[in-house]
Amino acid sequence: MISTPALVAPSAGAAFEARTVEHRDLRDDDVLIDIKFAGICHSDIHQVREEWGSAHFPMVPGHEIAGIVSAVGDGVTKYKVGDRVGVGCMVDSCGECEFCKDGEEQFCSKGAVMTYNGKGYDGEQTKGGYAQQVVVSERFAVGIPDGIELDVAAPLLCAGITVWSPLKRWGAGPGKKVAVIGLGGLGHMAVKLAAAMGAEVSVLSRSDAKKDDGLALGAAAYHATGDEGVLKSLKGTFDIIINTVSADLPMQTYIGLLRPLGVIANVGLPAGNYDFAPGAVVGGSRVVAGSNIGGIPATAEMLAFCAEHGIGATIEKISADEVDAAYDRVVAGDVRYRFVIDTATINA
Ligand code: NAP
Ligand code: ZN
Repeated sequence: MISTPALVAPSAGAAFEARTVEHRDLRDDDVLIDIKFAGICHSDIHQVREEWGSAHFPMVPGHEIAGIVSAVGDGVTKYKVGDRVGVGCMVDSCGECEFCKDGEEQFCSKGAVMTYNGKGYDGEQTKGGYAQQVVVSERFAVGIPDGIELDVAAPLLCAGITVWSPLKRWGAGPGKKVAVIGLGGLGHMAVKLAAAMGAEVSVLSRSDAKKDDGLALGAAAYHATGDEGVLKSLKGTFDIIINTVSADLPMQTYIGLLRPLGVIANVGLPAGNYDFAPGAVVGGSRVVAGSNIGGIPATAEMLAFCAEHGIGATIEKISADEVDAAYDRVVAGDVRYRFVIDTATINA
């Protein structure tokens, strides 16, 4: 077994504790990664606080992992010791079904193995990136291009790919008006990526507090949705809306902001339901869509695009003892724009 210091949530909602956890010895196709940085995704908070139903504890969250390969299994061909790699939300899939063959491993018919709060096909509970090391199959490690520093690369492995997928699928680019609801971890990446794709981007945030940032990230316009009348004035405006909000939202109102044939792609995962009348989508033939992370080939494509365009996440780097407070700040919408844990500070 491989022992590594990690941040462990002992039970739902409890404070983190630094402990030593164990990973399997390397299988033929495994790489051992020395984790340098791990992003804090709102999904970590939903799971640690059991907002999506019961979870497995003790839990080591973290699916925005960036580090360096420090050992390889006998059969590994993709990587060598010293390579810079990332790991996102998945660490295994069957590799044989139509979706795996298409590089859409998140839809694996057998069920993709999630990086943490999941069970591997061997029955072992998976442990994520709030740690100094992780063991994964080389198939689920993605090379990080030299042009992107590891700290700003980590959030690309979830926040980046999650918004990349719907932007690509629904054709964000020149001549398209894209709105991003919620300027947090996913939202700020959506603004950067959509702007680099050539779309005209608008931020829809609750207040004016992040206005200067939103425009600096690449948005052409910024609207504070708390102001009465703002949403009314935007009716019928956008081709694509990416909804990244982690809480409930008046969906019918936001559908109304779409042009005919427009699409609202939901990536936010609040615990409750959205509410809208059939007429809201039938009139204008509008689409209400969802989008779930992205496959390994798309993740590599997104990282190459980020390197080419000089894009990394905008981060606040924190130490291990600041994670509990960081969770509260994320929930309060007070993060500029992703917390990234320096894993060297985990003292177990
Ligand atoms: P985040 O950093 O907390 O950003 C969410 C943003 O939503 C906040 O910055 C805030 O933006 C807005 N918001 C928060 N509470 C709100 C409220 N009560 N009403 C209106 N707006 C509110 O979270 P994240 O890490 O980007 O994740 C966002 C959501 O996506 C989470 O639910 C997460 O689980 C989910 N997620 C889904 C996938 C997927 O594959 N689909 C992948 C990763 C994460 P403003 O302050 O600008 O209004
Ligand atoms: Zn995530």
